[in-house]
Amino acid sequence: MSVIIDDTCITCDACLQNCPVDAIVDDMSNPTGESRYYVQPEKCVECVGIFDDPQCAAICPSIGCITWDMPYTTEFEEHFLNDELYKLGTKNGTLKTPSFREKKYRKDIPAESRGVGKEVEEAPDDKEVG
Ligand code: SF4
Ligand code: SF4
Repeated sequence: MSVIIDDTCITCDACLQNCPVDAIVDDMSNPTGESRYYVQPEKCVECVGIFDDPQCAAICPSIGCITWDMPYTTEFEEHFLNDELYKLGTKNGTLKTPSFREKKYRKDIPAESRGVGKEVEEAPDDKEVG
């Protein structure tokens, strides 16, 4: 990952229904306790290899609610340990951080276009997605 959902979420359920890897949980299950839907960065693959763009952002009726966050890679380990934004899941007692398992991300989206609040836009057609 990842993408992130902000407080303009109207809890309509559309993103959860359309995420191909079941990375999204509803407001009742949001591990941060916020009343919005939540993308689990340890599961999100930015729809790489499945859709041309993040499907959740494409379908969300609250424009700008779902924005880019950083790739789920060891380079951004500390970012995803920010427990105001994220509460990572565990496996056999081990926190599923990027160093536990990195996730696919869209390499056509440069780092400067990423960050909480950076709008998800369609990927340029002429660049490789991987
Ligand atoms: S970007 Fe794709 S994989 Fe990630 S949460 Fe959205 S729909 Fe799911
Ligand atoms: S589609 Fe958008 S408004 Fe609807 S639950 Fe998901 S983030 Fe919230």
